[in-house]
Amino acid sequence: MTLDAQTLFLSMWVNVTLMSCALAVGVHWRQKTSRTGIHAWSAALLCQSAGWALLMLAFRGWPRGLSTLGAAALVASVGCMYVAVQSYLRRPVRPAWVVVPPLAVAVVHWLVFSHFGARIAVVNGVLGVQMGWLAWALLRPGAAASSWRWRWLAGAGLAASAPLVFGRMAIALWAPERYPAFDSPHWLNALGLLVNNACLTIGTLAFLLAHRDEAEQALRRLATVDGLTGVLNRRTLLERAEEQVALARRHCQPLAVLMLDLDHFKEINDTRGHPAGDRALELFADALRLTLRQPDLVGRYGGEEFCVVLPMSGLDAVRGIDARLRERLQHEVGPLLGFRLGFSAGATQLQPDDDGLGAVIARADRALYAAKSAGRGRLVLEGTQAAGDAGPADRAVLPPTPTIDP
Ligand code: GH3
Ligand code: MG
Ligand code: MG
Repeated sequence: MTLDAQTLFLSMWVNVTLMSCALAVGVHWRQKTSRTGIHAWSAALLCQSAGWALLMLAFRGWPRGLSTLGAAALVASVGCMYVAVQSYLRRPVRPAWVVVPPLAVAVVHWLVFSHFGARIAVVNGVLGVQMGWLAWALLRPGAAASSWRWRWLAGAGLAASAPLVFGRMAIALWAPERYPAFDSPHWLNALGLLVNNACLTIGTLAFLLAHRDEAEQALRRLATVDGLTGVLNRRTLLERAEEQVALARRHCQPLAVLMLDLDHFKEINDTRGHPAGDRALELFADALRLTLRQPDLVGRYGGEEFCVVLPMSGLDAVRGIDARLRERLQHEVGPLLGFRLGFSAGATQLQPDDDGLGAVIARADRALYAAKSAGRGRLVLEGTQAAGDAGPADRAVLPPTPTIDP
């Protein structure tokens, strides 16, 4: 079988052009949940299409500037791939990495134009370095928390292409007589074109997978997290808290539940407007998250009511959290909001005879109600005996802290 380089070029060009058109039509450009990655990959395919078209036209006797532009477009294409990779790996994009290589290649390509071997070596040398670096960024262990499937597909494609691109550079430098023209029938040229074509197809599949993973993550996040405050929504909090209750029971570990409700919140809305109320909720949730530790769960239980579940913790931990949160509200959140934000809290511990999470939350809610009745701005503890202890529950009302001054 004879592999004709011109036919391979043409089929690759058709493939790349169709894929870039299909992506442009098929991927919603203004989709909110999407990162720039798939669009950058789409741009990479467009650059490939333009690059190969320009090189083919130049080869057919069109002005030599088209060949230089074509070479720069191919290098720019890998720059766009770099943007796509960084986007899905959630790493910053260095604009110089995108802009400098095509410009530098265009200048050098133009200067050494009369020497075919030199210009092939320059373009392929830069492409090989770019591809090798990208393959490393994708395949290196611990590259990112994101799914390994798309990283391995895209990384394997680039890792397969890079040596062939370097090979083309090597022949152009050290055996130029075996590679005298763009469509040379040298096996490395034909294999390079075949592999490049396959890798662009696999790369497109890989970035579509990355795009889908991203959209899936965004949807999962929307389903589990409260849109305004970023803490868990009520359903997810209750599901995860039930798991923690089951674990605490099985291992005879303590577990505390803390309910928090902002004081006089309606007044904030009425006097300062809903956006100020929303901002207060966001900052309160941020402060709460910063006050908790890794295994603790926090969710928005109702409008301005939050629920915190503290695995392996007793009421001492609750007291500490309450005190630190009040401190944070006073010194950090208050100055940001321009007014003081207070809350009441009720807490309890899992008891051996509790009939599931519902009973614990109901008790914490009663304690919260008691805190409100006692004048707000305080923590009420109920059921202070630890899981496994016997004896009646007692109640402690902790001293009030300054309430809201809207
Ligand atoms: P108390 O001290 O007794 O808790 O009084 P309160 O005003 O905080 O409680 P009340 O239940 O009377 O009012 C709660 C208010 O919270 C009413 C509701 O409009 C407001 N709210 C609930 N969800 C949101 C929200 O997402 N954003 C804003 N801005 N307000 C909300
Ligand atoms: Mg309230
Ligand atoms: Mg309330």
